[in-house]
Amino acid sequence: MKIKPNTLVAYKGGGYDGCFWEWNYAYIDKSGEFHSIFASGRNGCDNREELENCEDPYDFDLYDMGNAEDRRRFGSEEGVRGTVLCARWFAENTDTRIKAKCDRCGCQTDVLGHGSWGDYAGEGGTSYFPQHIFCGKHPQLREDY
Ligand SMILES: [Zn+2]
Repeated sequence: MKIKPNTLVAYKGGGYDGCFWEWNYAYIDKSGEFHSIFASGRNGCDNREELENCEDPYDFDLYDMGNAEDRRRFGSEEGVRGTVLCARWFAENTDTRIKAKCDRCGCQTDVLGHGSWGDYAGEGGTSYFPQHIFCGKHPQLREDY
C-alpha cells in the first residue's frame, strides 16, 4: 500500500502479550518523510516501508491532512487519547491544527486549549486517559487531570 504525502495514519500497533493491540499513529509529511507520532509493541512501525508493508489494509485509517473534511473526521472518530496525542504532535511540529468534536454540543474545539491532559507515558498502554472532550462552553464538565 502506497501512502500519499501529508497523510496521518492510524494503524493497529501494540501487540505485547497475546493479541492485545492499540492504535498507533504515524504521519507522512508533505515531502514524503515518515514521522512516528506514537508507536508501541512489536507492531509499531519505525519507518515508511514497514508501515506501507503492513499486511492488512483494514487495519488502517488514512486521513488527508490537506483536507478539512478528513481533519474533522479524525477529530470525531479517533479516541480522545489518539486525538490529543496527534493534536499535540501536530502543534509542535507542523502548522496544522487538529480540532476535536465536543462530546456535549458537537462543536469543533481546540483540544490543546483544555489545560492539562496529563502526560501519557506511552509504555504498556495502561495509563489512564480522559474519555471525553468538552469545549469551553461547559466548564463544569471539564475533566481535570
Ligand atoms: Zn461544547
